[in-house]
Amino acid sequence: MQPPFRKATRCSDPPRPRVLILTLLTQLGGIVYLIALAAAHAFGLRRFSAKLTLLVLCYAAAIVATQFAAPDFGRVPLSCMAGAEDRLMVRSPIYCALNRNYVTPEVRDLAEALAAHMDAQFPGTTTVALDANFPFVNGFPLLPHLPHADGKKLDFAYYYKDANDTFLNGATRSPIGYLAFEEPGPGDELPCAGRHDWLTTRWNFDALQPLFPAYRIEEQRTAAAVAWLTTEGVARFGLQKIFIEPHLKNALGITDAHVRFQGCRAARHDDHIHIQIE
Ligand SMILES: [Zn+2]
Repeated sequence: MQPPFRKATRCSDPPRPRVLILTLLTQLGGIVYLIALAAAHAFGLRRFSAKLTLLVLCYAAAIVATQFAAPDFGRVPLSCMAGAEDRLMVRSPIYCALNRNYVTPEVRDLAEALAAHMDAQFPGTTTVALDANFPFVNGFPLLPHLPHADGKKLDFAYYYKDANDTFLNGATRSPIGYLAFEEPGPGDELPCAGRHDWLTTRWNFDALQPLFPAYRIEEQRTAAAVAWLTTEGVARFGLQKIFIEPHLKNALGITDAHVRFQGCRAARHDDHIHIQIE
C-alpha cells in the first residue's frame, strides 16, 4: 500500500511567522525581510551569514530612508543621537532601531518645549522619552501600547533620585525605562484591586522588580513637568490627556482633570507617563 501523499513544502513559501513578528516589532521589518530574501535568491547567496548580513544592511538602509520619508506622511523621528547639549533624549537606541520613535511634528515640538522648560527651571535636567509611534499608517499600533497608532501619543520616563535624594539626570530604573513599577503604599488608591481581568496588559512582572535599582521618583521635577503639560502643553500644543497611576497622582498632589487613570485593562502607568494630543 502506498504511504499517504504528503504535500511538499516549496522553497518559495513565504516565511509568514517571521514576517508577521518582524512587522509587529518594527513595522518595516517584515517587508525588508522579504526584500532581502528575494535579493539573496537573485544573488545566489546560500550561506546563512551572507543572508543575515544582507538583511541587516537592508534594514539599516530602511531605517535611514524612513527618517527622510516619514515627514511626507506626517511623522518625524525623535533623535536617539542626543548630545551633551540636548535636553530631550530617547531612552535607548533600541527605540530608533525598532522605528518606535516617530511622532507628529506637534508632539515633537511639545516634547522639546517640555524639555527646554524643565532645563530652564531645573538647570541640567534631561527629559527622557520612551515609546512613541511607528513611522507610517494611522491605526497601526505600537504593541503593547494599542493607542500609540497615530503619531499623537508619547511616553515619558519619570524623573528619578537615589536613596540620598540626589537627582539622577537621564536615569531610569530599568534599561528601557519600562517595567520598574512604583509600588503603592498602605492606604493608597487601588482602582484595580480585586479584579482578575484575563484580557489585559496590566502585568505586574513581580519577578523582575528586585532586579531594578531602588531609585525613587523625584517629586519636584515630575510634578513640575506635569504642571507644565497641563498648562502650556494644553494651551500651546493641544495636549488632551495624561495617564498616571492614581497613587502617584495623589502623592504628587496633582488634581488637574487632564491627568487620568488609563483603566484596568491598560498597562500600569507608575513606570512611565503617557501623553496624547488632540
Ligand atoms: Zn503611552
